[in-house]
Amino acid sequence: MWPRIMVDDYILEIKDLKKSFGSFEALKGIDLKVNKGEIIGLLGPNGAGKTTTIKIIIGLLKADSGEINIFSENIISGLPGWIKEKIGVVFEESNLYHRLSAYDNLIFFARINNVKKAKVEELLKEYKLFDVRKKAVKNFSKGMKKRLMICRSLLAEPEILILDEATGGLDPISAEIIRKKISQLKNEGKTVLLSTHYLEEADRLCDRVAFINKGNLIALDKPSIFKDNLQQDFLELIFAYDPFSLNKKSLKRQLEVLLKKGEEFKIEEDNFYLKLFVEENLFKRLNQITDQYKLVDLKNREGDLQEVFKQINS
Ligand code: ATP
Repeated sequence: MWPRIMVDDYILEIKDLKKSFGSFEALKGIDLKVNKGEIIGLLGPNGAGKTTTIKIIIGLLKADSGEINIFSENIISGLPGWIKEKIGVVFEESNLYHRLSAYDNLIFFARINNVKKAKVEELLKEYKLFDVRKKAVKNFSKGMKKRLMICRSLLAEPEILILDEATGGLDPISAEIIRKKISQLKNEGKTVLLSTHYLEEADRLCDRVAFINKGNLIALDKPSIFKDNLQQDFLELIFAYDPFSLNKKSLKRQLEVLLKKGEEFKIEEDNFYLKLFVEENLFKRLNQITDQYKLVDLKNREGDLQEVFKQINS
């Protein structure tokens, strides 16, 4: 038998991507390799450079320098038609024809892309929009519009799906429908690149997440690796205190001495909240508090990506 040669199966490769708007450097050299069939999350605060990266990938913006390869083809100077067809994009803002019905919106794009009517109906059913297909899009909720935008992006059966804030501003039910669909797309072998502010979403959906901040990709790994590297678990506790026998200032001073970097406290009218890392000296430290105040609630939370985000951005 011939030895198997292992080659990297990158569907998308970004090398040292830079982009400035005037004197402002929006991207300072982004490197990212996306494997075929994986879900990659771009995470970062507002203005980090996520949308700029996406716009360059799909040819809406031109990079100043760097390289992008899609299906091993260098596309930095323009996206060839055959690659364009293989990429579906959903932007944060709706780009639907609002006066047209859901059905007509899809039929319009289906004709341009040479897609059969049956595919339009199949997608409308799958995304629970079939019953409202004849309604004008202007009467749709944000979640319905987003689902329709996803249907549109899937019409030509793309191999790569790029979602910019697909669940941003949606009610929890609509967001959940979309998240389930994204997981399903992975099972169908599609590669998904999504930008999100929701860390739990990235944790649940993504094989790997890239943290982008101020135009730099500062960390890229599996969500579980980030979580393992965290100062693991922490405890959340709520204690009661008597505001008539102790003023807030003194309590604040006492808590500031007790807490370590990264731990938190919040003082309310007659109780205070503590978030402490589970570590060797935790109970010794806690003794100082439990002697004096009554514990009213306790939770044990596993460190999540929210924590990673805070640490990386601190
Ligand atoms: P958000 O989560 O808010 O969408 P983002 O990470 O997608 O943020 P980008 O939209 O990529 O951020 O913007 C990165 C930076 O580049 C921001 O500071 C933004 O103001 C700036 N920027 C983006 N497009 C332009 C433009 N056309 N002209 C000038 N500045 C721009």
